[in-house]
Amino acid sequence: MPTRHDATTTLYLSAPEMIRLIRRKGLAACITGIAERIEREFLRWEAFDKSPRIASHSKLGVIELMPIADAARFAFKYVNGHPLNPARGLPTVMAFGLLADVDTGAPRLLSELTLTTAIRTAAMSALAARRLARPGSRRMALIGNGAQSEFQALAFRDLLGIRELRLFDTDASASARLAANLEGQGLRIDICRSTADAVRGADIVTTATADKANATILRPEMIEPGMHLNAIGGDCPGKTELHRGVLEAASVFVEFEPQSRIEGEIQQMPADFAVTEFWQVLAGRHPGRRSDGEVTVFDSVGFALEDFAALAFMAETAAELGLGEVLELVPQAEDPKNLFGLLGLVQPAQPAASLSS
Ligand code: NAD
Repeated sequence: MPTRHDATTTLYLSAPEMIRLIRRKGLAACITGIAERIEREFLRWEAFDKSPRIASHSKLGVIELMPIADAARFAFKYVNGHPLNPARGLPTVMAFGLLADVDTGAPRLLSELTLTTAIRTAAMSALAARRLARPGSRRMALIGNGAQSEFQALAFRDLLGIRELRLFDTDASASARLAANLEGQGLRIDICRSTADAVRGADIVTTATADKANATILRPEMIEPGMHLNAIGGDCPGKTELHRGVLEAASVFVEFEPQSRIEGEIQQMPADFAVTEFWQVLAGRHPGRRSDGEVTVFDSVGFALEDFAALAFMAETAAELGLGEVLELVPQAEDPKNLFGLLGLVQPAQPAASLSS
């Protein structure tokens, strides 16, 4: 087993090692660091070779591959979405991914991305809300209190200044777990009886439900002027959270439009329904929120560039903290053309057969 990570080896961050990394770096520092990294990479939008993710749909869920590259690095994430998984003892969303050198094609980092996806999604949501929510937003409704929810709550506390959470989940035990996990984190928490009850008076509404259906978690009559909606649970064909009337009355921002047209809330809308790619707001090409009364929607589906940024951040942090295991994912032959030689199947040379009788 090699011990040095060089241009020919791959660093491996397993789930237990990622937990060590996040605890040593600090969750808040990871959320902030990944948000900064995403902002930096989104400002280089044109430098990336982008495509909608490749999805394999089945009755109970979806499995997706998310590739992206710039001139130096290639990344991909494998991720699934199976809303019934928790009843089978598995998370709804599981992921891993890879960073490779473009110049050689060598895989440099192989990493768990289940925890990292929760962090990067929260970082992305908060980054968008910082530009799209009303300044001074303090109260957030959080609908769907599963695996993503603690990360969303803490990102909005740290990057937006959210101080009050109003929770609702059809599974009361999920809200109870979330409230218990966030105790002592400086957040006032109320568990509500319904979505309408949670949403009333909120500055920001985050929807993070999981159901393979065109759900209507938010309906037009629930929306108040000036609200910002952070809709992260609608991320697949036939899987949405907002009534189309909510979208009609709002300014809608997306990550990568060609992918969002297929997977986002806007899959319900005609092809010419106006949306803005969020990088345009970061780049100063679009003002973002235009008035206090405007309703804004971040129609998030999760885009490969966010994972590219997260993988880069985790690679740097692992190097800084000396974490990760060096893997020989690619066989290392002294003569790279002699791949066969590594198998040890070459017969020792026989002495030349005698021709004499
Ligand atoms: P999870 O299964 O752990 O949690 C989902 C929760 O939603 C569950 O507690 C469930 O009881 C609740 N729920 C389902 N229907 C509901 C309803 N009608 N009203 C209220 N609550 C309801 O899933 P998770 O990992 O927390 O992910 C949440 C959603 O976010 C999923 O749909 C997932 O696909 C999506 N997601 C999106 C991104 C992104 O980048 N946009 C990233 C990760 C996950």
